[in-house]
Amino acid sequence: MPYLADENRYEKMEYNYTGNSGLKLPAISLGLWHNFGGVDTLENARKMLRKAFDLGITHFDLANNYGPPAGSAEETMGILMEKDFKPYRDELIISSKAGYYMWPGPYGEWGSRKYLISSIDQSLKRMGLDYVDIFYHHRPDPDTPLEETIGALKQIQDQGKALYVGISNYNSEQTKAAVEVADKMGVNLLLNQYNYSIFDRWSEEEDLLGTLEEVGMGSIIFSPLAQGLLTDKYLGGIPEDSRAAKESGFLKEESITEEKLDKVRQLNDIAADRGQSLSQMALAWILEQGVTSVLVGASKVEQIIENAGTLNNTGFTNEELAAIEAIVAD
Ligand code: NDP
Repeated sequence: MPYLADENRYEKMEYNYTGNSGLKLPAISLGLWHNFGGVDTLENARKMLRKAFDLGITHFDLANNYGPPAGSAEETMGILMEKDFKPYRDELIISSKAGYYMWPGPYGEWGSRKYLISSIDQSLKRMGLDYVDIFYHHRPDPDTPLEETIGALKQIQDQGKALYVGISNYNSEQTKAAVEVADKMGVNLLLNQYNYSIFDRWSEEEDLLGTLEEVGMGSIIFSPLAQGLLTDKYLGGIPEDSRAAKESGFLKEESITEEKLDKVRQLNDIAADRGQSLSQMALAWILEQGVTSVLVGASKVEQIIENAGTLNNTGFTNEELAAIEAIVAD
């Protein structure tokens, strides 16, 4: 059956302007880091992407190395682009990145022009696309001059291989330095993609969000559920089909400590009092901070439906916010 997207797909999702740009991103975006690789089933990946788009999730986030094996998530996207999403290309924001290890030798990671240009060409080929909507430098490179990295992003944009360019995992100071160089080159850095969650507060310590607002950039948050920890899934042990149980999963069993689970239990109670699931509260909490988009991952269609339901209840009382702080500070 050919895929026909839900005609009501734009009714419930909210879309936010990304920094000072004219590009709107959905409040909830979907990432293909896990569960879309060659080790996963195409049918499940297909179901998840279809459902996401049906719910108004217009943004799919990838990177050269997502899989495993590295590159295979982009290949999955390419197959599904061809099978399902080709008619909807202009309704989609597809991103990719380069920065982490992708191929052997001195040109397969970090931030040289050689690496970034080769990598975007490979990504476009794997996805069968003429351009990505957003291309990111995936992590700061301590050894390559920023002028070279930002210059490569500019080249990629000027060549029409990416409509917008951004940075990922740059802290406040690194963001300011990148913007200074980009301004001199006449490049607009659209947004920064970084990790933030009720449990993960490094960006607050240096007011990264404030910096991004100051320089007119957007913010998109990865691992907003702390890779699944900020849900009720680990409260009764480690489910066999969970990220923590999978060999290819990035979440390690050792990081699911009793102390963490105790906090999860308390947070779960607050979420229940608000009439939502913990995953929904964790996503709502990040949106409450004023970010452009939260970038969730999923292994099942049901999770995507649940996460999209976050938008039914996003406000917080001061008491709820204080109770959450008390739990994490404890
Ligand atoms: P999350 O914190 O959202 O974790 C996703 C995992 O949480 C899912 O795989 C699933 O785990 C579980 N989950 C999601 N929804 C629910 C739910 N409703 N109920 C129960 N469990 C749920 O984000 P990710 O760590 O996956 O990161 C999101 C995206 O961010 C990535 O796909 C990628 O695009 C991007 N990213 C970017 C990075 C960067 O350096 N720029 C680094 C990391 C991620 P399970 O599989 O156990 O079911």
